[in-house]
Amino acid sequence: MTEDSPDVIRDALGICPICFVRVPSCLIEKNNQVFLKKVCPQHGPSDLLLSSAPLYYRNLDRMYFSVMDEDKEMGDVELYVTGRCNMRCSICYMSCNSDKNALIGEPSLAEIEQFIRHCKQQMIIIGGGEPTCREDLPEIIRLIRSLGKSVMMNTNGVRLAEMDYVLLLKKAGLQRVNIQFDGFSEEAEVQLRGANYLSEKFKAISNMNAAGMSVGLNMCLVPGLNNRSFGKVLDFIACHPHIVSVNFLTIAKLGAAAAYPDRDYLMPDQAADMFLDELGDKFSRENLFLFQKLHLAMKSFFRQRYCFYSVIYVGVRTKQGYAPLDAFLNFKHLDFWLTLYERFYKKSRILSKAAFILGVLSLFCSRRSWKIAGELLWLSIAYVARSGAYFRPTSFFYINFSTSCDPNKIDYRVSRNCHNEMAFACHVGDALEHHGRSGHVFIRREKVKQQGRAGALE
Ligand SMILES: [Zn+2]
Repeated sequence: MTEDSPDVIRDALGICPICFVRVPSCLIEKNNQVFLKKVCPQHGPSDLLLSSAPLYYRNLDRMYFSVMDEDKEMGDVELYVTGRCNMRCSICYMSCNSDKNALIGEPSLAEIEQFIRHCKQQMIIIGGGEPTCREDLPEIIRLIRSLGKSVMMNTNGVRLAEMDYVLLLKKAGLQRVNIQFDGFSEEAEVQLRGANYLSEKFKAISNMNAAGMSVGLNMCLVPGLNNRSFGKVLDFIACHPHIVSVNFLTIAKLGAAAAYPDRDYLMPDQAADMFLDELGDKFSRENLFLFQKLHLAMKSFFRQRYCFYSVIYVGVRTKQGYAPLDAFLNFKHLDFWLTLYERFYKKSRILSKAAFILGVLSLFCSRRSWKIAGELLWLSIAYVARSGAYFRPTSFFYINFSTSCDPNKIDYRVSRNCHNEMAFACHVGDALEHHGRSGHVFIRREKVKQQGRAGALE
């Protein structure tokens, strides 16, 4: 393959980032990188860099479309309870920093109850806007728990700096929170969040510990601003056992964040590359790849959806700090068994299941694995079942790299398996409704905004 003859990997279904029309698209490999290539008859070609590890990317992409080829179930739904927010973030994809947030209304308690009673998903993630802007948040949590669901919340964490408030939410039944945490630099706080909230966030994290609740960190990653603190973040997590995950989110060209330059809208693989640049002595690209393969197989084995625009790994707390999961498990035979799983997937369910089980067993062909085997098995069951037990602090923490679909990134062939379901009320007083996959919702919203502008020009 030469620079002039890019190698086509597969067809894709993207949109032109200018006119939002679905245009001929494909994945290509060029100069040892993978791109989503789109050609709009009106606005010309656009290339989006997906990965700089083509061998691994191609292997996973092929597997993804072999084992995730049908609409699978989803265990979670994110319930947007308000469009209000007490912060003014420059990277807000919901445009909560604008007074004209026409999308998200505030469903009443009765509307939420009606929705939850008919909701198939087990795990309810309360989001917004900033959910703590609603004074009846404890009642909302109590209601969801009383209907037998697991409940966590996405928050900027500012109000959780008050211990009484944390205890109020805990008493109502809240099981876990994901707090925005963009690293340790004041500069990043001010640029991303509009002011320095570091002391409130540290207080919130310590309050959650004191209240015996688990925490996930959502870190918004902007190149040149806070992409050199992976090690510091992981050290921090290692000595705070109640922190159970960190999600490194790259920004998307949506809402307020659309003002950032195009080079800042990274795909998860690029974020993982930055992580490996810094922590390559502990983590390896190959093991990251093998774990994606295992995770995809696991999701497909249990018939759950998972987005391809997400890279996940697991860290293990040790006496010295932390180590990657591959320091305990044997990854050597994974590729062999999981490739068999993929091959048999459509031909023989029995053989594919056997290959998956043998692949999992091969992980434990290592003496060190027995130190974590029991806890890992228990956590995996809770993870698949999406039960509240999944929130309990363990020796493990998840490391995740993900992004939201935007007009540049969306490939409808990938986003049909988006694992973020959204439900919200469109206007104040309107009933709460299921709106489907977040990627599609965001694109529809950008399109409406764009057509509104075009309409105004006419
Ligand atoms: Zn176009």
